[in-house]
Amino acid sequence: MRSRRLERLVPYTPGEQPQDRSYLKLNTNENPYPPAPGVHEVLDSFSAADLRRYPDPRCTRLREAAAEEAGLDPENVFVGNGSDEVLSFAFFPFFDTALGALLFHRYSYSFFPVYCDFYDIEYQHVPLEQDFSILPSRFLDHPESCGVVFPNPNAPTGIAVGRGEIQNLLEHYPGDRVVLIDEAYVDFGAQSCIEILREWPNLLVVQTFSKSRSLAGMRLGFAYGGAPLIEALTAAKDSFNSYPVDAIAQAVGIAALSDSPYYRSVAARIAATREDFTASLRDAGWLVLPSKANFVFAAHPSLPGREVYRQLKERGILVRHFQTEGIDRFVRITIGMPEDMERLLATAGELEAG
Ligand code: PMP
Repeated sequence: MRSRRLERLVPYTPGEQPQDRSYLKLNTNENPYPPAPGVHEVLDSFSAADLRRYPDPRCTRLREAAAEEAGLDPENVFVGNGSDEVLSFAFFPFFDTALGALLFHRYSYSFFPVYCDFYDIEYQHVPLEQDFSILPSRFLDHPESCGVVFPNPNAPTGIAVGRGEIQNLLEHYPGDRVVLIDEAYVDFGAQSCIEILREWPNLLVVQTFSKSRSLAGMRLGFAYGGAPLIEALTAAKDSFNSYPVDAIAQAVGIAALSDSPYYRSVAARIAATREDFTASLRDAGWLVLPSKANFVFAAHPSLPGREVYRQLKERGILVRHFQTEGIDRFVRITIGMPEDMERLLATAGELEAG
């Protein structure tokens, strides 16, 4: 009944979406602000009759719009059904254990090891620094690797690394192996590597519309890279599903791309809320890692992370806790509206030691 392939999989666990009562949801890094006005217009006027037809399998117009925004050509853009899917498509063609293990950090996006198991790719953990910051040159300690992947800003820590340091890694890392930067949270204050893509044929940048573009429910993810990398991703996609991005998502994506000023102002507001919230939580004695994302990774002065998670949930607030040795004292808190963060701060003051 079950293949051996399935037996060795440990699926990724997404943040919970409970239906039992209403919660203040600060656990999956969704954006508290609505999508741009143009997105609402597209959805209001979309003709159901057009759904008779298959969508454009190449997402031509959406790729053109994304390329224009990024200062690239459409042949440098790949679109998928959320960036998790884009990442999965990337792991298949680019990382081959015959060349060595795939490198990523011990505390990184917890989907990476799942893709590795799915595609049978060996991986090796590279340490973060003592303060959880990323030192990209650490990847160079492992010359036998088949590639590198890390989020920038990192998840779940929120700590960003500068483009210059990534440039330095690319200068020394073998040019025939892919360096994949997952920029899911880049718009909240980190530096994108899209600007240096033309210099590095082995650099692949993945982004999502789920966070800064307020479209987690739509499922749109992008990859940016040299044309040969994009062709390889397209081959992976076309060996799995020709039409992963539906017609509504393509139309909505184009509308979202046409209103960058709106999204820049939303991201700036979230970044400002994050800074205020970080300062307040630190004043209350918490350890808060310096985040450039739309979440913070924070540890209560005395309670373990699991207990903070549990007590907040009891009081109607959801945050995310990872039961992973070394980071289990932290919880990851999504930045919501300023009033959401005030409620969390007030509730945090009520938490009780066991
Ligand atoms: N990368 C990172 C680091 C993430 O945290 C997430 C969200 N879980 C994703 C990628 C995937 O986001 P999506 O599939 O919604 O684009």
